[in-house]
Amino acid sequence: MKYESVNQALEALAKHQATMAAYNHALGVMFHDGSTVAPKGSWEGRGQTMGVMSGIIYDLETSPENGELLTYLEEHAEELTPVQRRQVEVMRKGYDQMHKIPANEYVEYSVLMNDAQNVWEKAKNENDFASFAPYLEKIVDFNRKFAGYYNPSMEPYDALLNEYEEGMNMKTLDAFFAQLRGAIVPLLEKVMQAPQIDDSFLNQHYPIDKQRELSDYLMEVLGLDRNYCGIAESEHPYTTNFNNKDVRITTHYHESNLTYSMYSVVHEGGHALYELGADDAYNFTNLSGGVSMGIHESQSRFYENLIGRSEAFIRAVFPKIQEIFPEQLKNVDAEMFYKAVNKAQPSLIRTEADELTYALHVMVRYEIEKQMIAGTLAVVDVPAEWNRLYKEYLGIDVPSDSEGCLQDSHWSGGSIGYFPSYALGSAYGPQMLMKMQEDLGDVYEDVANGDLSKVTGWLKEKIHRHASFIKPDALFKSVCGEFDAKYFTDYLTEKYTKLYNL
Ligand code: ZN
Repeated sequence: MKYESVNQALEALAKHQATMAAYNHALGVMFHDGSTVAPKGSWEGRGQTMGVMSGIIYDLETSPENGELLTYLEEHAEELTPVQRRQVEVMRKGYDQMHKIPANEYVEYSVLMNDAQNVWEKAKNENDFASFAPYLEKIVDFNRKFAGYYNPSMEPYDALLNEYEEGMNMKTLDAFFAQLRGAIVPLLEKVMQAPQIDDSFLNQHYPIDKQRELSDYLMEVLGLDRNYCGIAESEHPYTTNFNNKDVRITTHYHESNLTYSMYSVVHEGGHALYELGADDAYNFTNLSGGVSMGIHESQSRFYENLIGRSEAFIRAVFPKIQEIFPEQLKNVDAEMFYKAVNKAQPSLIRTEADELTYALHVMVRYEIEKQMIAGTLAVVDVPAEWNRLYKEYLGIDVPSDSEGCLQDSHWSGGSIGYFPSYALGSAYGPQMLMKMQEDLGDVYEDVANGDLSKVTGWLKEKIHRHASFIKPDALFKSVCGEFDAKYFTDYLTEKYTKLYNL
């Protein structure tokens, strides 16, 4: 249609965003239901409904009317507010992406995703990489091709990275990871030569109903308003958000592990605070929600590690934890607990890695993805390369592909270029913390009293309230200036040197 005025076009823009928000809300609730409380056998019907709704969303996003609307608004960009311009920019990105991929390839890829997920699950359970390899090959080929559609002027892997973290590229990441490797690998070697921390008391029997009590307490300390933030249980912990007054986190309880759920609640709680802290104005628009994976992880890891694994936080929460588990923790004090939750050691599984070694796990995946997309590493050679890099970075032998290159669901889900955001998020935090302390003084005095209001208030002001309005690189720069991984490596060096008396 032809628009008679900018106002008329803006009305269409607002209506489109509200419609998309409504469909995404419904889909999100269905996904969350399926991952938490829905009976196992209900998956087929839900899959059918979600398929139909995804089709409607695809049609709505790619309609010719949207193309006209975008063109009109781009021609009248100078009459739009900065928020409206950003909405148009975000909508354009999604529109172009869907249009650039030929419909037949899009369908073929969706089918491949569905099959790959099942094949990967079976391959992982049976330690059978060979059965997954042909699927991974196709996924890599598709992603390389998509990268060319997204941005033909970029190196394919750069184009993929840019999908997850706008502005990110291999040049930045190569330097970033080299800096991390230079600091963390020797530090880990020293840690391993030092007397080891006893964390065996964390693996006693911790009844699940008592762990639920702990989750409730932690949500209270984090300042998560239960009126707007729910908690449920799922296979893998995650956070999902529908608007800034409806956020859900999940956790998973292991009866013989106290900290798995404890720190998943603090981590997902950090994601939730980000979503809850967004300005109301962004609700039901395409700017609602956190701006990127990297910034999101910077918030979750800020709460998980910089706060949750700090001495001050442990001092604040340990009395309550001991009250909930009096038998298990009767011979433990806050200092022992602090040391135990910070124990570092090389391990095989990324999601269970400690704060010090976590980035090394990510680095392995980065190196492999980069080579697969460049075509310099054949998929059949992935297990050998994986094992070689684990030996080189973490100093350990990988006994099986199930505990090696088959452990993550990302590649089978088509996500190539996603992993680096995890390491970036970890590295953004310490630089934010330094800025925060410049503004507020020592925030850990409040943290030691179980009061996180200053910390969250600062993050809300600087990061959360902007939702997706400011691009991730610009947002980080506006808060911290130029990104420098040195803040992260300095933080780790100081923390682990003290912890292990190096
Ligand atoms: Zn996370």
